[in-house]
Formats: sequence, structure tokens, C-alpha cells
Amino acid sequence: MFFLKKKNKITLIIHKNPDGDALGSSLGLMIYLRKLNYNVNLISPTNYSEYYSWLPGIKSIIVLSNNNKFFIEKIILDSDYIFFIDLNNFSRIGELKKFIKNSKSKKVLIDHHPCPLNFDIMFHDSKAPATSIIVFRLISDMNNLNKIDKDIATCLYVGLMTDTGYFRFPTIDSETHFIAGSLIKKGINIYYIYNHLQENYNENKLKLLSIALKNLKIIKEYNISYTYIKSSEIFYSYKQGDVDGIINYGLNVKNIIFSVFFFEEKKNSPIKISLRSKGKFDVNLFSRKYFSGGGHKNAAGGIIEKSLSETIKYFLNIVYKDFNI
Ligand code: 5GP
Ligand code: MN
Repeated sequence: MFFLKKKNKITLIIHKNPDGDALGSSLGLMIYLRKLNYNVNLISPTNYSEYYSWLPGIKSIIVLSNNNKFFIEKIILDSDYIFFIDLNNFSRIGELKKFIKNSKSKKVLIDHHPCPLNFDIMFHDSKAPATSIIVFRLISDMNNLNKIDKDIATCLYVGLMTDTGYFRFPTIDSETHFIAGSLIKKGINIYYIYNHLQENYNENKLKLLSIALKNLKIIKEYNISYTYIKSSEIFYSYKQGDVDGIINYGLNVKNIIFSVFFFEEKKNSPIKISLRSKGKFDVNLFSRKYFSGGGHKNAAGGIIEKSLSETIKYFLNIVYKDFNI
């Protein structure tokens, strides 16, 4: 990032419903650039889950709302550089998209999702298991690994840990563990991180999970599982992030290679879809084709403006008519 000049105004933008990697990589980069005395703002198009509220620097995130639209528009228009982090497409930044259209700033991409749009400057590697890896490489290329402190390391480690399914996915390699090791050397508290992300559930998260497990269906002949949660089945309040991870249960069934989760958050709201696969079946392509979504080969998401029952019917039709792996 040798193109940056000291006086530059930099805006970091992450995707809707930011996950651990979007938050970790952007916060790590924000803290790092601020240490170098750059003027940096970090904007999210929607709020983040409370499970991440302890992340270093997270209170600095400016979350788009009705009250701060003009303030955010001004920040974006005044920026010299806008960094788009952990996303490859403007459909992922919701309402912020319209502010970007009018901005003359240079657009920089830092991401690992396949098939990105073209940006002025690109730090992109679809083989990287997390965007946080790319941020680490950028800091390393600037010969500034000594600037990584415990806070930056914690943020990057969270991105790495969450996007690799806690160091399980086939995307990881020896560099992943080398970088994780370098971050651990900065004094991060691994158990604290794990405890806050995985041992901190409210009981309603488990109740949501129980609905999804009750509704789980297996299509044996195609090695597919799917499940759903209907808004009328939810009788208690829950937090953003409480449905995260539900998708994995269907994928963990023996012989299943493709799993889908349909979520109707509120009565008549569009259906949010999560897709996961094992091996060569590409859920990114599947989601792009049928659910105007995207993501990675083995983990993708999408959304559809149909009722839950219509959505499931639509999905089953696709599966029965032209499913071919
Ligand atoms: P999740 O199922 O956890 O919401 O998302 C899994 C992956 O798919 C993540 O990499 C996420 O960035 C991507 N993803 C989720 N929803 C969408 C979407 O609506 N559009 C696109 N392009 N990607 C998505
Ligand atoms: Mn990511």
C-alpha cells in the first residue's frame, strides 16, 4: 500500500451483516493504519452481531442508519481511497452503493471471494482462506510486522479462525498456521476469543437450532440436506448472529455433500438462504444462478423474494430437474 500519502482520507467499507472475517480484517487494518497516523473511517451498511461486540476498535465502526446517512455520504465523498473489504460486488454493501456511485475516490479491493468486479487497485486472492490473511500479507509487504500489536493480532486471528471454521476447512494451508502462529506470538488470548464466540450463546440461539434440527430433511438419492425456520415457529426474541452455524448441522450428516438453510426472519420477509457443500459441488455458482447470491465454492448465501413454501418448492424443482454433480 505504498500508494498511500500521509494526508489521505481512507474509508473502509465492509459487507452487510458482517461476519468474523469482515469485522476482523477491517478492524485489524483500521487499527494498523491509524497507528501509522492515517485518517481512517470504517463503515458498515448494517449492524454487527453482539457476539463480536468485544472486538478491539469495534465501537469505531460507523453503522449506516437513517440518522447518519448524510454524515456517511460526506465521509465517502471526501475520501481519497475507499477500501472494500471481504466483498467482491457492490450488491453486498446495501444502501451504501448509491453513495459510492457519486464518489471520485480510488477504489481498492481487499478480498478473497472468487470472480470480483474490477477495482482501481486490487489485493485479491481467491485461494486465501480469509481476507484477514491478505491484510496480514499487506502489513508484511510494508515491512511492518513489528507494528502488529495484540489488538490487531486479535482482530486478524478472529477473521482467520471464523472463516476457516476454526481451522478445519480444506482452504487452510501451512501459511494459515504460520500466520496464526505469528499472531499468537503477539500475545493474543486464544481461549478468551473462543469463549466469547462459542461459549457465550444465549439459550434462544439453541431454541432456534432446535427448530432447524426438527425441520431437517435429507434427500438421500442426491446426498442433499435442507432445513428451514419459519417466522411463525419463533416465539422468543433472539439476536443477530443466532442463526449463524445452523447450516453446518445438515452438512455434517453422513454422505451429505450439499446443505441448504432457508430462514424467514419475519412474516413475509424475503427468505435468506445459506448454502454449504463438501468437495467439488460449487454453491457459489449455484447461488449466483438461482438465488442472486454468491460467496465461495463451499460456502455461499443468497436471498429470494418468495414465500418460504414457494422458495422450498422452487429449490426442490431445481434439485429434481437439473441437479447434476
Ligand atoms: P452465510 O451463509 O454465512 O451468510 O454466507 C456464506 C458466504 O456467502 C460468505 O462468504 C458470504 O460473504 C457469502 N454471502 C452470503 N450472503 C450473500 C449474498 O447475498 N450475496 C453474495 N454475493 N454473497 C453472500
Ligand atoms: Mn471472508
